[in-house]
Amino acid sequence: MQVWKFGGTSVGKPERMHAIKNLIIEDGNRKIVVLSALSGTTNALISIGESLKTNNDAEAVEKINTLYAHYEEFIKELYATPEGLAKGKTIIENEFSFIRSLVNIKPFSLKQEKEIVAEGELLSTQMFEAFLQEKGVKSALLPALDFMLIDADNEPVLKFTEEKLGAILSQLSDRQIFITQGFICRNPRGEVDNLKRGGSDYTATLIGGAIVAEEVQIWTDIDGMHNNDPRIVKKTFPIRELTFEEAAELAYFGAKILHPSTITPAKMKGVPVRLKNTMEPSAFGTLIADKTSDREIKAIAAKDNLTAIYIHSTRMLNAYGFLRRVFEIFEKYKTPVDMITTSEVSVSVTIDNDEHLDSIMAELRQFADLEDVDKDQTIVCIVGNFSADKEGIALKVLEAMKNIPIRMICYGASEHNITLLIHGKNKAAALNALNERCFLYEDTMKDIFSAP
Ligand code: ASP
Ligand code: MG
Repeated sequence: MQVWKFGGTSVGKPERMHAIKNLIIEDGNRKIVVLSALSGTTNALISIGESLKTNNDAEAVEKINTLYAHYEEFIKELYATPEGLAKGKTIIENEFSFIRSLVNIKPFSLKQEKEIVAEGELLSTQMFEAFLQEKGVKSALLPALDFMLIDADNEPVLKFTEEKLGAILSQLSDRQIFITQGFICRNPRGEVDNLKRGGSDYTATLIGGAIVAEEVQIWTDIDGMHNNDPRIVKKTFPIRELTFEEAAELAYFGAKILHPSTITPAKMKGVPVRLKNTMEPSAFGTLIADKTSDREIKAIAAKDNLTAIYIHSTRMLNAYGFLRRVFEIFEKYKTPVDMITTSEVSVSVTIDNDEHLDSIMAELRQFADLEDVDKDQTIVCIVGNFSADKEGIALKVLEAMKNIPIRMICYGASEHNITLLIHGKNKAAALNALNERCFLYEDTMKDIFSAP
């Protein structure tokens, strides 16, 4: 069994839904299809929630009406038969009457907010399932709220999914295609919750991991993960193969194509993940799996808006326990550290979330000297296959960076990344310079050497 996930733009128009119906039945394989909400819907639902939270009920009702009108038009084009259309109408009536019922709940709390954003996926999946029924496809709708669960730390409980989903599937052995909601889940209080923005990718690999799928395919509207940021760098290309580690680094450090936690369950269960393009289904895309191909430097990604903190202590000289004290403070404030460098008497770290920066600084000052923090820092992450006995990789990277000031460098923490910290204003220059040196120059040289 495979798991295929389609994002918001892949289901965002009736003709896109028609196209993915063909895609999912063409190869004849059994699969679980995970859908996002139609593009724009989650944002619209969040915005309705905001109006309700601030007691602007009239404004909320207006936004609900606009969104409803969009769905009314959508179903007219989605279905070809009066029966199909009637089914579609019932689905949107039901879901919108629930959304409207939330207008009267006071105070409008986090619980209702989560319920309202879940409507996007509840709508898209029911509408698509009804469309498959209209076309005579042997499919079934699996309610994600019955088998997706997060714990008190918002971590998905994979065991729960394994058990529940396994039981559900064993009852439906005659079906070929299963449709389910991405993003949504329940929390330990039994309430509706979610896996955070972009979480449908994560749903797909969690399901893939739970059933140990043959493969998880993430369908978007780009041709896989690129070797560099196409919005900033001109000559980029899709990467054919990445290891789980490389993909995880890239997803975390800025490659917007995947939700950062997506890789974890796939890696844990050894389930390959393939990124595919709905607009160009026959293109290879990017395959994320256990093995690696030969290329040393595979991709570059960047993460913005980081804060760097410099922690200095003369008492660190020959001392032990200093780093533990430092990291205990970050742990206390649940603030993840992205990058670390150390010298004999100091340590520098970067953090993404500076919500508790003042308290963290105050506690650090009790045993260390701090300089002013540097805001607007960018991590540039160079990902690839850098085994420790290969020479010249760091040189290539640093050569590319010869005109750009570097704040921090990390190399050797793993065999698949080199990480640099630079000022945000130099990001475009750095990405372009690295692309030139590590990819374009490299490929030109290869062509020259392999020429007859
Ligand atoms: N619909 C949710 C969002 O827009 C989840 C997803 O699309 O992955 O964030
Ligand atoms: Mg997405």
